[in-house]
Amino acid sequence: MKVAERQEAQRIATELAAIARSGQVLAGTITERRTRCSNPNCRCMADPPEPHGPYYQWTRKIRQKTVGRWMSREQRDDYQPWIDNHRRIKELLARLEEIGEAALAADPRWRR
Ligand SMILES: [Zn+2]
Repeated sequence: MKVAERQEAQRIATELAAIARSGQVLAGTITERRTRCSNPNCRCMADPPEPHGPYYQWTRKIRQKTVGRWMSREQRDDYQPWIDNHRRIKELLARLEEIGEAALAADPRWRR
């Protein structure tokens, strides 16, 4: 493995460790939703419409099934960074995988 890649791997390890130490990692996504009810006299049906909400929904896929929970705005503000951390871990892991593949491709023992 090249020196540059080894150094990059060490930087990735440092960042991964910091995220892991925080313990703030959450899979899934948080979506902001606004809804309309079925009451024709409601402001959500007015012109212009004023939908209900915003509501915040955390969703995550567990074994092909999507599970979701409604959360408060305060919960959304608290947990969005956890979700960002999860995405960052996946990015860092993908980069490590690229480094591994490059090292394998550069192995001089491949037969021609
Ligand atoms: Zn309504």
